[in-house]
Amino acid sequence: MAEDLRLSCICGKVRGRLRDVGPGKGDRYVCHCDDCQAFVRRLGRAEEVLDAHAGTSVYQTRVAKLVLDSGVDQLAAIHLTDKATLRWYARCCQTPLFNTMGSGKQPFLSVLTFALDEDRRDETLGPPSGHVFTKFAEGDVGNVPTTATPVMIYRALKRILADRLSGDWKRSPLFDPADGRPVATPERLDGTSGQAPADANMLAHIEKRR
Ligand SMILES: [Zn+2]
Ligand SMILES: [Zn+2]
Repeated sequence: MAEDLRLSCICGKVRGRLRDVGPGKGDRYVCHCDDCQAFVRRLGRAEEVLDAHAGTSVYQTRVAKLVLDSGVDQLAAIHLTDKATLRWYARCCQTPLFNTMGSGKQPFLSVLTFALDEDRRDETLGPPSGHVFTKFAEGDVGNVPTTATPVMIYRALKRILADRLSGDWKRSPLFDPADGRPVATPERLDGTSGQAPADANMLAHIEKRR
């Protein structure tokens, strides 16, 4: 059954919720990609977030389902690569929160379930539909269920299209509805900051890994 799930950083300054979510309202995966691993390691949260095979549990859903009630000023975002993926975290306590594209006009939202209500997230979201990018996994993942990359892309593109056609992309709290710019100035690993790269494209990012 779909319902709301509370979302919070560890210290509680960033608070919000995912509205009306559940197994039929989005897709849950365990992502083993090297960038997801690098992100949580960079924040010093690997032990808490990664599973035994270095996987990160994420829930991908429509962008307007995310509501932030407080702590928007604590949000930080970083590009770990030269690709479009933008990784969001809470500056106050280094909690990894979301993955998006660099612009709100490419409405993609993947929420780290680590930030969701621990007591209710598994019951509400259901189990992961599959593990993705297992070639980056640690240890033997021969027995874990996997989701093929094209399937994941197809599901995400359907949501992106729906958010674009409906105008719901403008309801994401992470981007300015006027121009699609992120509400936090993106950092880069070389210490510079700036907008999304010109080649901001989800497919380009994912194609790299196939
Ligand atoms: Zn915090
Ligand atoms: Zn990943």
